[in-house]
Amino acid sequence: MSEAKKSHVKTLLILGASGDLTGRLLLPGLAQLIATGREADLVLVGAGSPDFSAEDWQQRVADVFGQAKKKATAQGAAHLDRMAAHTSYSALDVTAPGELGQLVSTLEGPVALYFALPPKISQKACEVLTPAEVPAGTTLVMEKPFGSSAESAHALTRTLTRLVPEEYIQRVDHFRGKATVFNILGLRFANRFLEPLFSAEHVAKMEIFYDEDLALESRAGYYDHAGALRDMIQSHLLQILALLTLNAPATLGERDLRDHIGSVLRATKVPTDYAKSTRRARYTAGTSRGHDVPDYVDEDGVDAANGTETLAEIELRINNSRWSGVPFLLRSGKALGCPRKEAVITFKPVSHLPDGFTGNDTPTRLRIGFGPDTLELELDVNGPGDMYELDRIGLSAQLNSPDLLPYGEVLAGVLAGDPTLSVRDDTAEQCWRIVEPVLAAWANDEVPLEEYAAGSNGPGNWLTSQEVQLDRAPKDGEVPGTSLDAQTAGGA
Ligand code: NDP
Repeated sequence: MSEAKKSHVKTLLILGASGDLTGRLLLPGLAQLIATGREADLVLVGAGSPDFSAEDWQQRVADVFGQAKKKATAQGAAHLDRMAAHTSYSALDVTAPGELGQLVSTLEGPVALYFALPPKISQKACEVLTPAEVPAGTTLVMEKPFGSSAESAHALTRTLTRLVPEEYIQRVDHFRGKATVFNILGLRFANRFLEPLFSAEHVAKMEIFYDEDLALESRAGYYDHAGALRDMIQSHLLQILALLTLNAPATLGERDLRDHIGSVLRATKVPTDYAKSTRRARYTAGTSRGHDVPDYVDEDGVDAANGTETLAEIELRINNSRWSGVPFLLRSGKALGCPRKEAVITFKPVSHLPDGFTGNDTPTRLRIGFGPDTLELELDVNGPGDMYELDRIGLSAQLNSPDLLPYGEVLAGVLAGDPTLSVRDDTAEQCWRIVEPVLAAWANDEVPLEEYAAGSNGPGNWLTSQEVQLDRAPKDGEVPGTSLDAQTAGGA
């Protein structure tokens, strides 16, 4: 794989122009990017359903760009007007042989083909495209899920690399935004007091939470076939885990970074006693965000027989010299009482605390919050009044926040031909390889599907759902720290 600079994309072809992703996320991200003056000469083309017309597309673009113009400079607004005035739409069936190839041949290259289509349709479209229909320099942009197993992810890659080399495939993970990736790497590798401490010698456990207060939000068509494990953990949270645990790459170039992500994920496994190392649950009726939430199985479009979990928790081990023995926990769910989006790194106790100190000797904890990215270091210090009594303080900071929406960042990378933030083929397969045995155990009912009331913190018997003693008052919206130790110390 070379890191040779690729030419800039001249035309962005969005397939699935009438879809939800295009309207809600892609076009607003693009508008923000264009308003900054970057990619000002890009040509935008929409394509897809015959039920959508050129006028519908132009209206859709005009509506979204009109919103962006309210915040844009005069020059940014001019760039948006130019793009909106020149955009075109083609109705086609991407799965019909020759139709997509014919459209691509009329566009100025290099072209980025953005597959904002249902996954099966994207796969079929790539199967019917022939290499001769895909000019050199074309980028294929794929949305998750990248297959449904390690084998199908591999098969998808085979289909795609028949058309373009791997460096020209962008597997989008909008969660792995540029700011989040580089905030984590900067924090870990630019600070002498942190860099050597990220290892089994010093870390007691690491937890990554993505608890949402949102419930299903009419997304049964997708979610009821995915569930929390596939939707969040298999994709996004494993990527965050990799960034928090990889060895220092020599450079921030895509090859070095993605090699290290692949390496640490290859060493990652879920301990095989799945009844202990994994948990799943589904919400029942309750109240979240001040609204009544129905039982998950009564939500429109849900089939109770799918047994879909809305909250998932898995414990992992990383079997390499840096992390051997450290428990890692990934958890994500919907309709939870306290939204909580953070990684918590809990350090081991000091080897000797001088006799004479009183109070709680609580472990040092580093919390990295996501969206907005924040940092908090919890330390023991001498308390006010009694100098012998240990007290708790938190040093907190706001980390760099991106100037673009997540899909603006995604498109900036795609259009510049930079695959650094894209999920590489080996990583897409590894993420399935890690969760596949868990999915199989759950399908076999080896792990009970528990319940929790919408608006609660999850099943009360889960340690991560329980409120435990905190040595400082929780802030608004924060769930107190939790302990995995009893459950996982000494595990496989
Ligand atoms: P939608 O179902 O809303 O949109 C799919 C689009 O594909 C529609 O425009 C549809 O046209 C078009 N389409 C379907 N079949 C064909 C065909 N044979 N030829 C041409 N066009 C066709 O899906 P989403 O936008 O929600 O999702 C798209 C992708 O993005 C999926 O892979 C999804 O997993 C991923 N994704 C979606 C997110 C979201 O929030 N929506 C978030 C992250 C990822 P028609 O109007 O006729 O139906």
